[in-house]
Amino acid sequence: ETFTTNFIIDEGLIEKIFKSRNEYSHKGSFGKVAIVGGSYGKMGAAVLSVKAALKSGAGLVFALSPQCGYEILQISCPEALFLEGGDKYIENIHVEENMVLGVGPGLGTHEKTEKSFLNFLKDYRNPLVLDADALNIISKNTSHHNLIPENSIITPHPKEFERLFGKTEDSFERTDLAVQKASELKLYIVLKDHHTQVICPNGNVFYNITGNSGLAKGGSGDILTGILTSLLAQGYSAENAAILGVWLHGRSADFAAEKYSKESMLPMDVVKELESTFLYIN
Ligand code: AMP
Ligand code: MG
Repeated sequence: ETFTTNFIIDEGLIEKIFKSRNEYSHKGSFGKVAIVGGSYGKMGAAVLSVKAALKSGAGLVFALSPQCGYEILQISCPEALFLEGGDKYIENIHVEENMVLGVGPGLGTHEKTEKSFLNFLKDYRNPLVLDADALNIISKNTSHHNLIPENSIITPHPKEFERLFGKTEDSFERTDLAVQKASELKLYIVLKDHHTQVICPNGNVFYNITGNSGLAKGGSGDILTGILTSLLAQGYSAENAAILGVWLHGRSADFAAEKYSKESMLPMDVVKELESTFLYIN
């Protein structure tokens, strides 16, 4: 059994992890992100994720999406680049070696998407961020768990966690099971909830205390995926990316709630408030 140590993600820890930008830099200094997602009717999820990756500092952000999302993406995110991976859904995943991937937002679970994603994972070794339908596809068979590259970050909400690893009696049991799986599979599990937990392969559990119920809306998770992928691409370790990412996401949601209310704040407002959060920690 893995020995567990608990930590709270406080501002002291964030100060230690956060690296401010070197002035002697260029876009290549801050990594290349590829958000793999979007499908007919779910392009918004990919847009949110791409925007969040851009607003958290990545040098270049690509959307690998189906053709039906081409204009949507180019118009809503002029800073992003487009890679076509299918017609109405993704059926062909092709990325450059130095890209850091965030897979899942709006991906869908079309049979061909499923096949191309599982095939892609078979010979992919770099750490990546997996969320939403990427996790749902992996959930279809426990033999797929081993396809996830070591040191990757997975971001299940409680339902997705249950689909992946099975039912637990309560949130304490869920955390225990997550610690076991993180160690077994050498993964970072971001267990999303009111107080999100970052569960490390060595048994450390970091509790996030930023964020609020204004995040309980479709699209909030897609933003987190963009932030995490962006931080990984900028050279943060998976552990530091996960800790800093959940904190930034929650803190930006707290700024958004102050401005717009928990009721009216939207995921895109949270993306916008990333700027307040970066000003706050810089
Ligand atoms: P998803 O279910 O994938 O859209 O992800 C939802 C995101 O919003 C996760 O990062 C959750 O931690 C966050 N979230 C949802 N509801 C709450 C809440 N009541 N309090 C704090 N964070 C929340
Ligand atoms: Mg989600």
